[in-house]
Amino acid sequence: MLRKLSKALFGKRNKAATPQDEPHISKPDQARGNPSAGRASLSDLDLSDADVIEREDHCISRKSISPNAVKVLYRLNDAGYHAFLVGGGVRDLLLGDKPKDFDISTNATPEQIKQLFRNAMIIGRRFKIIHLRFGREIIEVTTFRAHHAPENEFKENTTNRSIKGLDSAHSSAGMILRDNVYGNINDDAVRRDFTANALYYTIDGFRIIDFANGLQDIENRLLRMIGDPATRYREDPVRLLRAVRFAAKLGFDIEKNTRAPMNELAPLLESISPARIFDETLKLLTGGQAEKTFELLRQFKIGEVLFPAAMACTKDPQTPEAKLLTLAMRNTDHRLAQGKTVTPAFLYGAILWAPLQKQLQKSLDGKLPTLPEQQEAANQVILKQIKITAIPKRFSIATREIWELQLRLQVRTRRAAETVFDHPRFRAGYDFLLLREEAGEELGGIGQWWTDFQIADKNQREQMLEGLGKGGGTKRRRRRKPNRKPPSEAGDKA
Ligand code: ATP
Ligand code: MG
Repeated sequence: MLRKLSKALFGKRNKAATPQDEPHISKPDQARGNPSAGRASLSDLDLSDADVIEREDHCISRKSISPNAVKVLYRLNDAGYHAFLVGGGVRDLLLGDKPKDFDISTNATPEQIKQLFRNAMIIGRRFKIIHLRFGREIIEVTTFRAHHAPENEFKENTTNRSIKGLDSAHSSAGMILRDNVYGNINDDAVRRDFTANALYYTIDGFRIIDFANGLQDIENRLLRMIGDPATRYREDPVRLLRAVRFAAKLGFDIEKNTRAPMNELAPLLESISPARIFDETLKLLTGGQAEKTFELLRQFKIGEVLFPAAMACTKDPQTPEAKLLTLAMRNTDHRLAQGKTVTPAFLYGAILWAPLQKQLQKSLDGKLPTLPEQQEAANQVILKQIKITAIPKRFSIATREIWELQLRLQVRTRRAAETVFDHPRFRAGYDFLLLREEAGEELGGIGQWWTDFQIADKNQREQMLEGLGKGGGTKRRRRRKPNRKPPSEAGDKA
């Protein structure tokens, strides 16, 4: 692969023909597309600032691209629009990895794309994207973006209503609030975040167009922000998270200048909507490199901003709570590598376990809490976290259930064991229990008991249940009726 990549990097690179050499359409036409002119050709574009890597000089084969993405490229091209595979699709193929998804960039506007594809859906307000759904696969198509005019500046806490209908808007601190100004491919390239993400693959000659020395940075495994890093982070603070995500996922170093302002600007993430931050945290933790990502989050101030309570109580890596967090992230990576699913409920359960324990210690002096005490502590912990990363209810409810199961799995009576085993989230609760033991919590071998119970046959299970007390669990005990029978008889029935 490396040989191939080197070929891509050091093979023949053509400085593209200058606009003087080749006929090209004017900027406004480029922005609008020119459907009446038939199939779009690369020679229509001004690529004088780009390196063009010919088909034989790079390792991307059309066969490794999703057939749906290829179809979309052809359909757009045939309709007279320029269309390129961009972003992770190109970057990951150059690295010999399987792209997570395929993104396409075009000069067709969202409305023009909608006219071409029956399955097109316009998504997003701040940044309009077209989703083309092909069964389970979604191809994201975006229109070339351009720089913003300096007008349309709004105060920090601008409401969506006041910028309604605007295509371009930014806050006084430089954050982009609306990013729907369209331009040409040259404008689009410099609006992308990192150089490795700004490579364009075209089906016109199967070439790669490189405007920002992205190939060189891929070769050097460097993540480099296009333009002035601080300005670009201010425009969209989520780029701070993307820097960490790509550094972990690709194993790239973050280039010196790209890294320099990251800590100082980390608090800007507080101005992003908690819902968007939640989505980004999922991308961070479910990309297959959660353990490495968490280490990086710790190194940067970003971790403290995203998960303040969790970071504060897991500073000492030797504590069971800190170990649990690391093991949960490692476990997540293993599951994903095996093609298994992971649930945000489990991830957040692990991230917030240490804060939950701390909250409980405040009131309990180390004793095992009752269910209501733990529920109250869970409320406090989740309430603080959702101010930063809005955890959708369906996940936070499941997180609470996983935590509740930790108590219920430890109640060793026949009745409690039977009901907990039938709980729909038993498996997640059990997995969490095993992680706690693996992290060094002393739980009296309860994890092993549950492991044995699950693999036991009917008779063995019956024996194991016989071996437990017959108590009805904490709730039942509290509801016990006044004892009217002689003590011995009452004891038998308890
Ligand atoms: P992956 O899909 O593997 O997570 P990706 O690089 O494809 O990585 P996407 O989120 O799919 O990331 O975005 C596609 C491309 O859009 C990126 O490669 C980048 O060029 C551009 N992009 C996405 N988000 C931003 C952003 N916040 N700022 C600037 N450019 C962005
Ligand atoms: Mg992508």
